[in-house]
Amino acid sequence: MPSLFFPSRDAAAPAAAPASQEGKAATPAAAGYFAAATGKRLAEKEAREIICDIGRRCWEKNYVAATDGNISALCDDGGIIITPSGVSKARMKPEMMIRVDRRGQPLGGETRTPSTEFRMHVAVYEERPDVAAVVHAHPPTAIAFTLAGLTLCQCVIPEVVVQLGAIPIAPYATPTTEEVPAVIRDFIRTCDAVMLDRHGSLTVDESLWNAYYKLEKLEHTAEILLKARLLGRVRELPADEVNRLLALRPKFGLKNPVIACCTDDHVARRPAPPPPRRAPAPHA
Ligand SMILES: [Zn+2]
Repeated sequence: MPSLFFPSRDAAAPAAAPASQEGKAATPAAAGYFAAATGKRLAEKEAREIICDIGRRCWEKNYVAATDGNISALCDDGGIIITPSGVSKARMKPEMMIRVDRRGQPLGGETRTPSTEFRMHVAVYEERPDVAAVVHAHPPTAIAFTLAGLTLCQCVIPEVVVQLGAIPIAPYATPTTEEVPAVIRDFIRTCDAVMLDRHGSLTVDESLWNAYYKLEKLEHTAEILLKARLLGRVRELPADEVNRLLALRPKFGLKNPVIACCTDDHVARRPAPPPPRRAPAPHA
């Protein structure tokens, strides 16, 4: 029964398909669910190819529009491969990916510039030594929840509780600025899937495909919650069942951090700015 959710990471588990073979995975578990972590980082060539595959899938599934979104991977030689700025994720080629150091400086005579959200990716790698892949997209239903001030933090779907715990919404930050890495640090330290208020999703894993699958689960959860809200109230899982589900995680070898569920519709917001200073009264 548990293997319906995840392949185990133990020695008896069937081997997951190689990441580059994701589209034609050899085992049912690898085809539909997160692949077992291997602890092995990708070679640069493979990372470039998989990033292109994931970008195309993000565009096909409407997780990005125009040139939205960015994807990166930490490779086996310590370099970071990231998507270029200003390119549709549907039209990327492996040679268009940018190899950069941790300051965002291109390492290979690149003519294109790396994604403008590069610093958000670096912040994730700084906070999470276990992570080697970052996917940022603009999934519309999950973004709509943030616009409406509605939570995605309720524990309602069993397999999502096991895989991701709750999905928090980080406070609004102006895209492409230093505010974005600043607001995501606390969240990504404690979970693998975060929504940025009014902006998009951030999902991470040690595997590129697993980081992408977490995006699929995040948006799928938002779509289910939207339909449940249209039909009536959302019935949350009881706390004891949530605890039982979370207790299953070690059985599947899941060590990534998850956060507790919340029940209200509060969305974290930036502190209110100080009131404007009044102009001094003119002298009488
Ligand atoms: Zn974005």
